[in-house]
Amino acid sequence: MKSSRLLPVLTGIILTCASALSTAAPAAAPAAGTSTALATAASGRADGTDRTDHFRVTLLGTGTPVPSPARAGYSTLVEAGGQKLVFDFGRNVSVRLWQLRIPLGSVDAHFLTHFHSDHLVGLPDLWLTGWLRPPYGRRDRPMVLYGPAGTRALAEGLRQAFAADIAIRHKDEGSALTGITIDAHDVAPGVVYEKEGVRVTAFENDHGDNIRPSYGYRIEYRGRVVVLSGDTRFSPAVVAQARNADVLVHCVTLIPDALLASNPAYRAIYDHLSSPEDAARVFQAAAPKLAVFSHIGLNGDAPVGQIVERVRKTYAGELLVGEDLTRVDIGLEGRTGTPGGIAVWQEKQ
Ligand SMILES: [Zn+2]
Ligand SMILES: [Zn+2]
Repeated sequence: MKSSRLLPVLTGIILTCASALSTAAPAAAPAAGTSTALATAASGRADGTDRTDHFRVTLLGTGTPVPSPARAGYSTLVEAGGQKLVFDFGRNVSVRLWQLRIPLGSVDAHFLTHFHSDHLVGLPDLWLTGWLRPPYGRRDRPMVLYGPAGTRALAEGLRQAFAADIAIRHKDEGSALTGITIDAHDVAPGVVYEKEGVRVTAFENDHGDNIRPSYGYRIEYRGRVVVLSGDTRFSPAVVAQARNADVLVHCVTLIPDALLASNPAYRAIYDHLSSPEDAARVFQAAAPKLAVFSHIGLNGDAPVGQIVERVRKTYAGELLVGEDLTRVDIGLEGRTGTPGGIAVWQEKQ
């Protein structure tokens, strides 16, 4: 049973199923109803369905460039069937993966949204540490990487930057070069990955006039849909991709009104990223079964509760402010919106 397997590592399910989600405050929501939640989470497998049905989103890092111990740089893990896909590689992505006891070298494919460093600085670590022989590494095949034009050049630059380390470990430790090869692909918008029923589509979002291309990704598996907005201000493309999706993971940036009034320069942030009101517009129009915030910018030390307050003025649907290692399971029954189709819980950081 999933419940007994997961129970020891839970800090308590923070949210689960549609009715509980709608009134949910951010991560500190109480664990009340945990037993019900566990039963719900378990029900997807109790009928004998196996890992081939498995579709799960894990927020590896929900932060921004802020060097925060609580919020790692932006990164998201999507598990579908037996495949592990990682989208963006912010600071500490490797730490978060290994907290889940996922060997870094076991990731099947990697996807980059754009070239801002807060989405990238964790890539060299994931790449190099994933090549090491201990259980946390063990990549013995090329690292598969997709991203906008420039991704191949990035991979070549990394290879040059770390040429000495690669040569040393190859000679001194006998590490095979296959596992440190990057199989990099510059991809245009459209379907960029399709394997064993898992399809990943890149689409252009709107991260500002000088940051093009910038991608969001849509992941489909056995009738279920997860959309990652990437870094974007309000984008009709995100609305179109996420319409009736099971889960939409969206960026958000909060600038308190007083801060904006005293320092209008902050307004430029909203030319690149979504305010709570922008995100609410997207959620209202796209109507995902569950809207999740990640890449959470809190200017002026604003509390996350302010994000929820502002979203709630116009959006009443299911909403979750993510934390690092928040996990979302999307059951097959989620297709029809049946309660229990989506289960959410928080792993210990
Ligand atoms: Zn960015
Ligand atoms: Zn960013």
